[in-house]
Amino acid sequence: MFPKTFQILIDHFSTLPSVGPKMAERLVLYLFKQNPEEIKKFAKDLHKFATNVHYCKECYNISEEEGQCSICKNKRRDKSTICVVEEPLDVIAFEKTRHYLGSYHVLGGNLSVMSQDEIKKLKINELVSRVERGNIKEVIIATNPTTDGETTSLYLGRILRPFKIKVTRIARGLPTGGDIEYADEMTLLGALDGRKEI
Ligand SMILES: [Zn+2]
Repeated sequence: MFPKTFQILIDHFSTLPSVGPKMAERLVLYLFKQNPEEIKKFAKDLHKFATNVHYCKECYNISEEEGQCSICKNKRRDKSTICVVEEPLDVIAFEKTRHYLGSYHVLGGNLSVMSQDEIKKLKINELVSRVERGNIKEVIIATNPTTDGETTSLYLGRILRPFKIKVTRIARGLPTGGDIEYADEMTLLGALDGRKEI
């Protein structure tokens, strides 16, 4: 129906979350109507994105450099405290509070009650390795207050128990079922300050 190159782009857009085939067609048509120079710049930035953005090798946050991210590299951050979150967007939410000065560990998702296969995909072994390397005083579990987030928290609590370090869970001030990335700064601060040992 569409020219081949047009269709290829529709297929790419269709793979994005929440974009159905109709929406993909509309988006590609929108691009077609734009200034070709703008589209070329978009393509160039996509190429840069694919080449220059990595996972931090320490905390698995998004990093512009290979190796460690800017938070892990920052000597003023307390490396003996690790705040464990599900996704990089949660790191942004905590950073906005300008209150938390420790380091992070991004799991890359949560432990779904439905699918135990997910365990392998999460950066749990990498978290344990960081704790094993020593000098960790506290691990704050800041997974989302959803059923899957709580399951993940319980699992991590169990795995970290033998290490005799302080393991805390952020307080329940967050709306149940809500996501950390959408929580306002004051709520997040309260949840962090009210954390309890598990
Ligand atoms: Zn990092």
